[in-house]
Amino acid sequence: MNDCIFCKIAAGEIPSTTIYEDDDFRVILDLGPATKGHALILPKKHYADITEIPEDLLSRAAVLAKKIVTFMMKALPCDGYNVVQNNGEAAGQTVFHFHIHLIPRYNGDGAGVTWKPGTLTDEAKKEILEKAKDLK
Ligand code: AMP
Ligand code: ZN
Repeated sequence: MNDCIFCKIAAGEIPSTTIYEDDDFRVILDLGPATKGHALILPKKHYADITEIPEDLLSRAAVLAKKIVTFMMKALPCDGYNVVQNNGEAAGQTVFHFHIHLIPRYNGDGAGVTWKPGTLTDEAKKEILEKAKDLK
């Protein structure tokens, strides 16, 4: 992808604060961190979102997320962390190159990685259970 900023960062063409790199991934610090240590896992190849990334690479990204958050808990140290992955504009995705946010959390940090709980209605439950029958 010629025009993708994360492709360029992942390839080392645009400078970044890289905390980890291997053949398939680069892990960088987010330029607009939610908290101190907010990092992004970027695959070196371009996939727009979770539906595009191949399953084996996605699995390895999850294992890498575990490695980095384990590091964060020990080294920063943080009290917890959010693993966040946005897909689509409606979900807050702004860079359309698959990435995983690793957001260290500190007691009382006030970072807003949350939502307002609604109510699971009988109508929604029925509709979704019916549609999920085809899920395999
Ligand atoms: P998302 O909204 O899930 O697509 O996340 C995109 C993230 O990329 C945001 O948290 C931005 O702060 C971050 N970001 C955008 N450009 C850069 C950059 N050049 N270096 C590091 N992080 C970036
Ligand atoms: Zn890209």
